[in-house]
Amino acid sequence: MKYSSRKNVIEINHLEKTYITGDISLKALNDVSFTVKEGEFVAIMGPSGSGKSTMMNILGCLDHTSVGEYKLSGVNIEDLDDDQLAEIRNKRIGFVFQSFNLLPKLKAWENVALPLVYSGIHLHQRKEMAVKALEGVGLGERIDHRPNELSGGQRQRAALARALVTSPNIILADEPTGNLDSKSEEEVLTIFKELNQKGVTIVMVTHEDGIASHCKRIIRFRDGKLIKDEVIDHEFYRDF
Ligand code: ADP
Ligand code: MG
Repeated sequence: MKYSSRKNVIEINHLEKTYITGDISLKALNDVSFTVKEGEFVAIMGPSGSGKSTMMNILGCLDHTSVGEYKLSGVNIEDLDDDQLAEIRNKRIGFVFQSFNLLPKLKAWENVALPLVYSGIHLHQRKEMAVKALEGVGLGERIDHRPNELSGGQRQRAALARALVTSPNIILADEPTGNLDSKSEEEVLTIFKELNQKGVTIVMVTHEDGIASHCKRIIRFRDGKLIKDEVIDHEFYRDF
């Protein structure tokens, strides 16, 4: 498929984000514009404090800014009410964080089933879906384990299963391999690549060149500005 005929999933225009703490105001995002189309796998890189997490939180509708425009699948976020935003966060977007964010008292499958709790789906079916998602990330044998009974890599895969259980079309991941050893890092990256091959759009913050090189495109931030936008997979962006 031609790159230009792909649909826009994320469209950011002249976005700014200012944090105000006491008397100090800090521009964490400064006139940022970019577009992500369906099927892309974008790495976001940049030094600590350059605005990457701020960007991800806005992309995931966890945070908001009134300067600039954010369109998600063609819909202006400003036009959505709280219920519609909650629906998007819950069903369309899957989040993966560096710190896994699993609930310690819940079993793996219960953690994974959490996003389905308000869906009206019956418990037995929620469990079935959670188990399937865990099998999908290679944790079929660990469904009853609690987070402290899993390795770091397994915890991140469980978090990934939780992000995937609602079949989102976008995965947003903020340094998902930041706390992992290199073997687990590779496992998680392999799952991301497989998902992307199935058509899931992925935006992932990473520090590591080795990881970014597996993506299709790298966007770099510095001091809240997008300073570089680089194609890795030239075949994907071909337009003829
Ligand atoms: P990165 O993820 O690239 O390390 P962040 O987006 O977390 O960067 O932060 C960008 C800048 O905004 C930093 O200077 C950070 O200190 C500041 N910042 C982030 N979150 C907040 C907040 N909630 N309140 C005030 N300042 C913040
Ligand atoms: Mg960050």
